[in-house]
Amino acid sequence: MAKHIAILGSTGSIGTQTLDVIRSHSDKLVAEVLTAHSNADLLIQQAAEFKPNTVVIGDENKYQQVKDALFDLDIKVFAGADALSQVVQMGTIDTVVTAMVGYAGLKPTIAAIKAKKHIALANKETLVVAGDLITKLIKENNVFLTPIDSEHSAIFQCLAGEPQAIEKVILTASGGPFRTKSIEELKSVTKVQALKHPNWDMGAKITIDSATMMNKGLEVIEAKWLFGVEADQIQVVVHPQSIIHSMIQFNDGSIKAQMGLPDMKLPIQYALSFPDRWPSDFERFDFTKYPSLTFEEPNFQKFPCLTLAYEALKQGGNMPAIINAANEIAVDSFLKDKIGFLDIAKMVEKAMNGIAFVKQPTYNDYVTSDVETRKYVQSII
Ligand code: NAD
Ligand code: MG
Repeated sequence: MAKHIAILGSTGSIGTQTLDVIRSHSDKLVAEVLTAHSNADLLIQQAAEFKPNTVVIGDENKYQQVKDALFDLDIKVFAGADALSQVVQMGTIDTVVTAMVGYAGLKPTIAAIKAKKHIALANKETLVVAGDLITKLIKENNVFLTPIDSEHSAIFQCLAGEPQAIEKVILTASGGPFRTKSIEELKSVTKVQALKHPNWDMGAKITIDSATMMNKGLEVIEAKWLFGVEADQIQVVVHPQSIIHSMIQFNDGSIKAQMGLPDMKLPIQYALSFPDRWPSDFERFDFTKYPSLTFEEPNFQKFPCLTLAYEALKQGGNMPAIINAANEIAVDSFLKDKIGFLDIAKMVEKAMNGIAFVKQPTYNDYVTSDVETRKYVQSII
């Protein structure tokens, strides 16, 4: 029987690639719900092709445009943030792909888990902000989560058929566009330079996170919650070719790696096909074309966001939520030319010291920490 999918953020980088996967496996996957924040034109185009049951447009000003365009197709149209948390509960949905960016993914993901939907998780911010709450809800509701983030998909694939004997998780990082730049040079890099990722074509926020290496920091926290490992069991290794997507070292010293050309469609497809593998026509990796795969230590001085993320993970509580909110505001301000590249880490560090620490946060504490951190960082920019 075909799986019916809701995509939160169908117009983004992960969202459009999820639709590519659905298109190639239309006998097994059905797009049941599509949602977008503000790109009404693309949402309409996607709805006309995939004929989902329902679409949601976040921006309420665009509701009428979407409604009018889809009138003849008998597709239900809703608008606004609350609608996201409602549509994920629809009885006809099996799986929710969380492909929206940032903290906004938290609420609809919680709603989807409570409605016992399988979660295919791209929105790493959800696990960064409230990893303990999400893992608890997943257990309580007996739902299944498959990671889409390529590193975590790699680890997940390496763990197939293995008992729980992880000694170490080795997360690979491309190093981003500024891997070889000096700290001096980083002072004046522009957003145009930061938006040019060497190996991956992604949304703006995660591309900047890759340039600061905050993305790897967020992924370290994501790995803790997905695989139950502590900060000192997670090693980041810079691997500029992005061919090994990550590795597991077991307690007998054996290491397993998952490899392939960088293409997010593979982890997206695996998150939807698991435990099966489905055939694909994705380009195949050829070892002879890559005579050297190289590895180096990350430069924690040059990329302080990585250090701050480890620190937040060790402190726990609401600290990861604080760094996430501070980072979202700082990245947005950098993209609007309000602050420089190196200010992003400075804002995150200031927020870590400026916002009240809560050791055992409730859901409401996470919401409050997010709001307060955003206000605080706005006020110091
Ligand atoms: P993107 O910016 O390309 O797309 C974001 C999508 O979310 C769009 O459809 C947009 O309409 C929607 N959206 C944005 N803000 C929203 C809001 N407030 N409410 C509702 N919808 C909203 O981003 P992306 O690169 O596809 O990344 C999506 C998520 O996947 C992020 O959490 C990112 O970290 C993660 N991820 C992405 C990649 C990648 O290759 N792009 C890889 C690994 C993980
Ligand atoms: Mg990743």
